[in-house]
Amino acid sequence: MPFGYNGKILHVDLSRSQWEVEEPGEVFYRTYVGGSSLASYYLLKMLTPGTDPLSEENVLVFACSVLTGAPLSGFSRFTVAAKSPLTNGFGEAEAGGYWGPELKFTGFDGVVIKGRAPKPVYLWIHDGEVEIRDAGNIWGKDNWVAQEQIRTALGDKKIRVASIGPAGEQMVLFANVQNELEHFNGRSGMGAVMGSKNLKALAVRGTRKMTFSDPEKVKEISRWHNRRIKTHPPNVGLSKVGTSGLVKVLNDIGILPTRNFRDGVFEGVDKISADAYHKTIFHARGTCYACSVKCKRRVSLDDEQYPLDKRFGGPEYETLATLGSLLKIDNLPAIARGNQICNLMGLDTISTGCVIAFAMECFEEGILTTRDTGGRSLNFGDADAMLWLVGEIACTKGLGRILSKGVKQAAEHIGKGSENFAFHIKGSELPAHDGRGKTGMGLGYALSATGGDHIETPHDTAFSKSIVNLRPLGILEPVNPLLIDYDKIRYFALGQKAWGINNCYGICNFCSVPIHAMTFSRLVEAVEAITGWDTSLFEIMKVSERSNVMARVFNHREGFGAKQDRVIRRWHEKMPGGPLKGQRIDPEEFQTAIDLYYELSGWDKDGKPTNGKLVDLNLEWLIE
Ligand code: SF4
Repeated sequence: MPFGYNGKILHVDLSRSQWEVEEPGEVFYRTYVGGSSLASYYLLKMLTPGTDPLSEENVLVFACSVLTGAPLSGFSRFTVAAKSPLTNGFGEAEAGGYWGPELKFTGFDGVVIKGRAPKPVYLWIHDGEVEIRDAGNIWGKDNWVAQEQIRTALGDKKIRVASIGPAGEQMVLFANVQNELEHFNGRSGMGAVMGSKNLKALAVRGTRKMTFSDPEKVKEISRWHNRRIKTHPPNVGLSKVGTSGLVKVLNDIGILPTRNFRDGVFEGVDKISADAYHKTIFHARGTCYACSVKCKRRVSLDDEQYPLDKRFGGPEYETLATLGSLLKIDNLPAIARGNQICNLMGLDTISTGCVIAFAMECFEEGILTTRDTGGRSLNFGDADAMLWLVGEIACTKGLGRILSKGVKQAAEHIGKGSENFAFHIKGSELPAHDGRGKTGMGLGYALSATGGDHIETPHDTAFSKSIVNLRPLGILEPVNPLLIDYDKIRYFALGQKAWGINNCYGICNFCSVPIHAMTFSRLVEAVEAITGWDTSLFEIMKVSERSNVMARVFNHREGFGAKQDRVIRRWHEKMPGGPLKGQRIDPEEFQTAIDLYYELSGWDKDGKPTNGKLVDLNLEWLIE
């Protein structure tokens, strides 16, 4: 009897309307543990290189970890992964909320879905049983209606539903998967893959109690963690104002992405800051399973033009920036309204904001005109133009249909030099962090298998003063966020593995090491108390590295190489103003850093993990 996990992976073949259960042993679980690592394993095993991401041959994985659902703050996350239709490479996205723990309570640790249903369906997974049910009456419905109708049809208000909206059904390439209208597997277009399979939702409900190797120790660590969350400054800030607090912080240091990543300072920042948020649209705090941080925000506004419904999650930092400063929009109710429409329709707000910023800059440059927009102006700062385009993208209408392919493909379609304003890495639009002021993050974006990915990347600014939590890794001095020197490369390589732990073990970044309340030593104790494994920081870091290398191998099989490991043109140009005026990423320094990273990681000159590295990570099955 395993502790912490069920030992069962559910496999569903939608083409054949069949399902079966795989029961891997402890060695498998200890090697791949969960999340992005577990998902990478199945994508590498089951996918043939060159598979069309929107074909029935693609495989969609929902993966919890051996820890998901343990009663510790932040231990609630799960991964959705598939070959990404946005990048044609490895795609993954993580979400919190309650869906992951509830899946564990049904008796499964993950769901691997292949094939395509002949007509719209949803999965109903409950206490070890699975039903593939007709979704004809909810296809075309928004996330709120679809989730409610499923709960009503199944007669249980406590059912947790992960669903796609109309954007996923239309296969918008950056459609998301969401649970409870405020938790999102946002990136990489996982909603489009779900839509391509005619799969509207996964509804889960379980009564199985998780068992732990040392339940008293789990309780003790949970109490310690929650006490520390109450006093640890980054967690105190998150509890108080959520991620909206970052808007002002990043603007003050000159790296709040503004006007399609041209500037790092936004003159309208005060109107979209945490203060404004909490004075005007804030309704209540929200949270995820067992989490005492409660960083989530709900918003409401009784306004004719921009009504806000309290059932939806409010905009997080990434949305405040991508639907706000990136578009030069300082109208907070309009930003929150845009966020709510994205949630209803199932759009990733990061990519949505980026494609609109691209369109606005193309309009400013005369590449797009009112002939392309049906007579509308598309100027930076125009909140109503943003809301109109969100709707057009979700419904794939007019210009929205072109933008629904993401900035890379949209620029290929539009031509006329528009590619100069299409900012993406490996085809994925960028989260709201400017690499000119966080050079390690720039490295992370360039080297990530998913393109710009702020979840798995160390944020340099967090270590410019305090490095207390990083000392067990041998990082003993603060790093300079602006430099790309040997210290930065060494720090980045270690920090990247430390961050990657979260995606493998299903832990929220805001509760974990290195920035937040958890410590490495207590994390090791938590893994031991939950699973009963006699583990170590060494083994945990190896899991993270293994996951990263598997994703890397996946991309190499798909034709990726060193030439995709780059950042956007704009970050090689000098910051035009603000505290970082003149700051840029020097292309030669950056290339040297990438080459050194390959060497110290055991990757060859094309960025491909060597056979030695594969053997080091128990991945000899990937040696060609
Ligand atoms: S810190 Fe916030 S996002 Fe993370 S688990 Fe807690 S409530 Fe969820």
